Amino acid sequence: MDMNAEHPFTGAGETGALRSDLSNVNVREDLARAGRCANVHLATGRTCLLPLRHHGPCEFHKPQEADDILRG
Ligand SMILES: [Zn+2]
Repeated sequence: MDMNAEHPFTGAGETGALRSDLSNVNVREDLARAGRCANVHLATGRTCLLPLRHHGPCEFHKPQEADDILRG
């Protein structure tokens, strides 16, 4: 007997409103080693250049600016 009361719930819907951006974020290891937050916003390709464990939300900057930091 079929009960069509099932709600297929895929936790990671692409358009679903998520509690945080973290699932959309990756970390650049090179920047993380440089002591930066280094979160990469995949949608824009920008990287957070704030210090590791900074307060407040991430500020995403262009990859070019990230390279500048890596070069010192
Ligand atoms: Zn950040």
